Amino acid sequence: MKNPPAQNEKMIPRRHFLGGLAAAGTAFAIPVGMLAEEASARPQPAQPLKGHFHPKGKAPSKFTIEILEKAKTALPFSDTRDFDEQERGLIAPMKDMKIMADGGHVAWDMEEFQFLNQKEEFDSIHPSLHRQSLLNNNYGLYEVVPGIYQVRGFDLANITFIKGKTGWIAYDVLVTAEPARAAWKLFQEHVGGGLPVSAVIYSHTHGDHWGGVHGIVDVAAVRSGKIPVIAPRNFLDHTIAENVFAGNAMNRRLFYQYGSLLPRAPHGYVGQGLGQGISRGTPGLIAPTKLIEKPIEEIEVDGVKMVFQLTPNTEAPVEMNTYIPEKKALWMAENVINGLHNIYTLRGAPVRDPLNWSKYLSRALYLYGMEAEVMFASHHWPRWGNARIQEVLRGQRDLYANMNNQVLHFANQGVTINQIHNVYELPPSLQDKWFARGYHGSPQHNSRGVIQRFLGFWDANPATLIPLSPADSAPLYVEMMGGPEKILARGQQLHNEGKYFLAQEILDKLVQAEPKNQAAKDLLADVFEQIGYQQENPGLRNSYLAATYELRTGIPEGNTADSSSPDVVRAMSTGLFLDFLGIRMDSRKAQGMRFTINLITPDNGEKFVVELENATLTNLEGFLAKSPDLTLTINRSDLEKTMMGAKTLEAQIKDGTAKTEGDVGVLAKLASTMVDFDPRFEIMPGTKSFAANVPKVDAYEVAVGEPAPE
Ligand SMILES: [Zn+2]
Repeated sequence: MKNPPAQNEKMIPRRHFLGGLAAAGTAFAIPVGMLAEEASARPQPAQPLKGHFHPKGKAPSKFTIEILEKAKTALPFSDTRDFDEQERGLIAPMKDMKIMADGGHVAWDMEEFQFLNQKEEFDSIHPSLHRQSLLNNNYGLYEVVPGIYQVRGFDLANITFIKGKTGWIAYDVLVTAEPARAAWKLFQEHVGGGLPVSAVIYSHTHGDHWGGVHGIVDVAAVRSGKIPVIAPRNFLDHTIAENVFAGNAMNRRLFYQYGSLLPRAPHGYVGQGLGQGISRGTPGLIAPTKLIEKPIEEIEVDGVKMVFQLTPNTEAPVEMNTYIPEKKALWMAENVINGLHNIYTLRGAPVRDPLNWSKYLSRALYLYGMEAEVMFASHHWPRWGNARIQEVLRGQRDLYANMNNQVLHFANQGVTINQIHNVYELPPSLQDKWFARGYHGSPQHNSRGVIQRFLGFWDANPATLIPLSPADSAPLYVEMMGGPEKILARGQQLHNEGKYFLAQEILDKLVQAEPKNQAAKDLLADVFEQIGYQQENPGLRNSYLAATYELRTGIPEGNTADSSSPDVVRAMSTGLFLDFLGIRMDSRKAQGMRFTINLITPDNGEKFVVELENATLTNLEGFLAKSPDLTLTINRSDLEKTMMGAKTLEAQIKDGTAKTEGDVGVLAKLASTMVDFDPRFEIMPGTKSFAANVPKVDAYEVAVGEPAPE
């Protein structure tokens, strides 16, 4: 990013200048009316709101309130079936509002969301989002049907227990161990009867479905073969790979999508749509011991007949639904939620295939949905009765198919990625269904995602083909618009007229051109805040409010503890680790370097040739170079300690754990090219705090980051 031009002279003195003129008014004989006109050139900003969590925070404007009021009459609030379904089968609410982590901090806090129950309505929360967050305030143990139970509200997802012959089959196990353990305890107090967990099933790769596994089973019991852990094929590859290469960028963007820094408050974070939030306990991973391989596979799990339907490339790269014929119970994993899911994920992820997703829903409907009497899933609440199941399955099927087809219909008529979100709308009959509302994906960002999937980022206008970077184009805009004062005045006027999208257009240019212009950042923050309040979709709301926060305050300081779970690092292949080293390497520091390393890991029989040439680090599995500069022999189990940052490669060589032959110096050369990614890099200009606190890690440690829940 370019150094911003010094702006102090242009900014604050304007007010002083006017004040000075007023004081000297008589001397210069400037008519009072003209002064008043000058002074009012910048319309008055909104005053901070008492009770807002941020000293610069504002109340929703009358325009925002109007939009939220309109939603109250436009949306189907008379359809209250979700509330009936959400409450049905409650066995016991969870009494402790907080679940403590083993580390002594709070892992899960439902206290923070009780404010949602206190008042009928909030003028700073979209009524549809408020409704969804109220529904997600369920917190306790529920019976789905006799023999199937769910603990809900303990994390972003549900944990489900199904009665087997010898114990309980746990289906999806939350993000971290502590809430999973608390869920198991509550379950045992009321239903479990002291029987053990007899099997674990992971429906898919996202972290909220497997990270809590240590809370309910002992890894030794899994390794000994006593407890099977069942997952769809290729589970491990996709679980690890999806979050590594762009992991730091994804984690930073999670601050926006998941509003990580926003207080739980009417003007801040109000839930995530899928659930109230992500627990902060101890994540872990026990690798599956049984993979479902066939498109439809029928097996007995602890005496219960289960029909697994693989659904690759839907909500996750690998996922599966399950039908339990004896109970006519259909488990839809995360392929069906109460709302529209993400096609495009704001934290960043490869765009999903909505047509494929729709087809798998269709298949589930025709295979099982015609006879199922209960449908349950890893988020939200079950649906009972075949008619209701068919209604939801058909609606969800059409939701994703419509999004794919109608967006491409427009694209084929020339509507671009930069227009589609203002053009595409769901059909009214789907807009009327709560289960099609944008509680995770929004029609806006999903429709752009569909175009991205098929046509990519370019709208085919050459002016956007090789555009200037924002910081390089913005100064010209500012100059041509007549300077910062004019933009601030017009921006304030647009803000005061409720024209927030126009205001953001010009104020963003000013902030890009003048990152130190706090008046510009504050006004853009005011604009973002109103747009945030207006959103039904929590990811959009959080993103606007997170940017608001950072524009006003800067990116907060603090240690970012490395949250990589040792289990996740252990599950990572050596090839993936080496690939990631190639990403961590700053190519510019490797100019002129050239060497070849043979890496041999005897305990698992793998070998790699690693080459640094053309300032690029590559690796090839299964090959060795004839005359390498260095041969490094280390057991994979020992290498893992280095991958986790527990022991440096130097120390491994020094104590003889790693054997070397040749020039060890190339390792130092390689280490000198490695960069630690800053977990708090700047998104909005001028928000970076100056004493960045990036924890130092070993040059080879891999920062996998938290596997993203979804
Ligand atoms: Zn999930």
